[in-house]
Amino acid sequence: MTETIVLAEITKGAVHPTTAELITAAQKLGSQPIVVVPCTDASIADIAASYAGSARVIAAKSDVFSNYDAAGWAAALDAVAPSGVLIASASPQSKDLAARIAARRGISVVQDVVKIDGNNLTSPIYSGKAMQTVAIDGDAAITVRPNVFDAVSSDGSADVSVVDTTGDVATAVMEIMERASSRLDVAEANIIISGGRGMGSPDNFVHLEAVADTLGAAVGASRAAVDTWEAIPHSMQVGQTGKTVNPNLYIAVGISGAIQHLAGMRSSKYIVAINKDADAPIFQHADYGIVATWEEALPVLQSTLSSMMA
Ligand SMILES: Cc1cc2nc3c(=O)[nH]c(=O)nc-3n(C[C@H](O)[C@H](O)[C@H](O)COP(=O)(O)OP(=O)(O)OC[C@H]3O[C@@H](n4cnc5c(N)ncnc54)[C@H](O)[C@@H]3O)c2cc1C
Repeated sequence: MTETIVLAEITKGAVHPTTAELITAAQKLGSQPIVVVPCTDASIADIAASYAGSARVIAAKSDVFSNYDAAGWAAALDAVAPSGVLIASASPQSKDLAARIAARRGISVVQDVVKIDGNNLTSPIYSGKAMQTVAIDGDAAITVRPNVFDAVSSDGSADVSVVDTTGDVATAVMEIMERASSRLDVAEANIIISGGRGMGSPDNFVHLEAVADTLGAAVGASRAAVDTWEAIPHSMQVGQTGKTVNPNLYIAVGISGAIQHLAGMRSSKYIVAINKDADAPIFQHADYGIVATWEEALPVLQSTLSSMMA
């Protein structure tokens, strides 16, 4: 049986809980995975060791992991991860990383997997309009969409070995200067409330932020909103040319539901749409729809949620 190797998802220097879903995905391929944790401080691998169902954990320690850089991370991980089927999260960072490692190893890459049945991997294509199933035979690098597979429990106690790795790293990113924002990124959120051009002005996004703060949600946007208003950064864009998200709850406010927007959020567990136009395409994909202006709907939603959360 081919070995499976989970590449732990790292966010802000810590193991992201979606790593527990990757172990489930690896088990569906038929083996207990080795979990590789890119780190500068090996103690962060303890979280990965607590996830049940892995064979062992390798804390891959290198200064190169202090900031994400595709070439450096791929070189360092290639030097330490055993050969086999590599499984990473379908986050923008890890999709990039999986492709780089696959290129280094000369193995196939399958992105955005949502179903695993034996060696058959299913993923959406054509902006989610169709699904394709491919069979892997031998080593490959695959990324798995977050929130699709159940997470394994946290009562494991896998052995952790620490391996210093640098690989053949030619360049490394020393510092990333982030735009000052304390808000949760859409790619990491379990609940997202997104605004479209129907919000009328970037100033009106404060109403979305108020709901987001009540729910612990991230604020996203359509491309029309991002392109129209400089104050709405591209990092908030959800869709075909933005981020693909898969939260438990996606609230679309003043968003028409163009196919390119749907491509990034249609697999959300629950979709709620608020739009003043009853014929807006978003309602065809929403589990719950509110036909109203956001000016009418958001204050009611906000006060109801506030009293529920109190
Ligand atoms: C190659 C390509 C890639 C693209 N990639 C993306 C992408 O990644 N993400 C993306 O989002 N788009 C993308 N687009 C653009 C996409 O086609 C749409 O133009 C865009 O999604 C529309 O954004 P919107 O729904 O916010 O705006 P609009 O289409 O203008 O819709 C605004 C909606 O708000 C409603 N509304 C207006 N006022 C109110 C109010 N007061 N209260 C409630 N509702 C109101 C209207 O009824 C309408 O449905 C892409 C397009 C192309 C060609």
